[in-house]
Amino acid sequence: MSKFADYNFSGQKALVRVDYNVPLNDKFEITDDTRMRATVPTIKKILNDGGSAILMSHLGRPKGGPEDKFSLKHLIKHLSELLGSPVLFANDCIGEQAHLTANMLRPGEVLLLENLRFYKEEEKGDVAFAKKLSTLGDVYVNDAFGTAHRAHASTAVIAQFFPPDKRMFGLLMESEVSSAEKVLHQSQRPFVAIIGGAKVSDKILIIENLLDRATDIIIGGGMAYTFMKAMGGKIGNSLCEEDRLGTANELLKKAAEKNVSIHLPSDSVIADKFDANANDSTAPSNNIPDGWMGLDIGENACEQFSNVIRNSKTILWNGPMGVFEMQKFQHGTKAIAMAIAASTQNGAYSLVGGGDSVAAVNQFGFADKVSYVSTGGGAMLEYFEGKELPGIAAIKG
Ligand code: AMP
Repeated sequence: MSKFADYNFSGQKALVRVDYNVPLNDKFEITDDTRMRATVPTIKKILNDGGSAILMSHLGRPKGGPEDKFSLKHLIKHLSELLGSPVLFANDCIGEQAHLTANMLRPGEVLLLENLRFYKEEEKGDVAFAKKLSTLGDVYVNDAFGTAHRAHASTAVIAQFFPPDKRMFGLLMESEVSSAEKVLHQSQRPFVAIIGGAKVSDKILIIENLLDRATDIIIGGGMAYTFMKAMGGKIGNSLCEEDRLGTANELLKKAAEKNVSIHLPSDSVIADKFDANANDSTAPSNNIPDGWMGLDIGENACEQFSNVIRNSKTILWNGPMGVFEMQKFQHGTKAIAMAIAASTQNGAYSLVGGGDSVAAVNQFGFADKVSYVSTGGGAMLEYFEGKELPGIAAIKG
């Protein structure tokens, strides 16, 4: 593979896989353009070198044919504003029109192709479809970390049609990969992983893999109560996966064997119903009264977790500590974000990833106070589960 920054794109047509799977409202307005903004440096470098950029992406989950609501044409106007230059559009990603427009593309110009998932071949990783896409460009750049865990035609299969020196990560992908590698393979100890969110079942693999790397694992959010119950606690109506009680006990046992400290919230903010206006109180997390549920970590737990975070040199955060979408139950998530920001200022390396923790740092204004905020939810989770991501492997070859 080539290094993007060292590559001269002059006179080259770069076929760039981006992840523009952005949320749109019912007027087709983009409600969060983070993923688009994140690719601007890659595209600008190609254009500034004197190359042209052919952008390909998926959007939403079309059922295998064109659907207006999933058309990438809704992104043209905003993309040209972000780039400060016009964006051409091909209403297909393969076929004659795509080819003609790509062929006529001049240095400094940008072409956006129509949704890749209008072809079911994309998600199937179809080789013939990947080959057709590959003929549009001279160089392949993968800047779609958010889809790197999928072995799709445009994210993985296509790379084989470019020689190693003509395939590479874009700048976004490069920084995603190097931040993730820094945490997983070059972490300075103490290394704390903060895992929250709703379900234990979604996070078992990541916890298992981190048991070989982290010194401390903080478990918060709804998933903490399955652990509490597994340890014999009384959790009222709190979230609990009964079929994971055994798994929770096994994880605790493995952690003890590997000398990893597991930190569970000593107390909780509890509510009498799952509602923003519920009555609230506090209780020890292992003694929640009947009819009440834990919806956030309590004040003691905030202090307990913040101490661990303050003493850490590497911090990984995935998943909120409570129902942060409701004001009454966002204090714990905010306190953890503040502790991570303070520790980062004192020299720790902090990586925040996974949809809801990213939403939380953005909402509370902490995004620029942590070392890196990942754009890839599922991809980042699978990376930390220890899986090889097809989009990364295909470029490395
Ligand atoms: P996840 O997608 O697994 O990271 O879960 C994120 C979701 O977990 C958010 O929507 C939170 O509102 C929810 N959550 C966090 N803590 C709790 C809790 N104690 N009880 C119920 N849901 C929670």
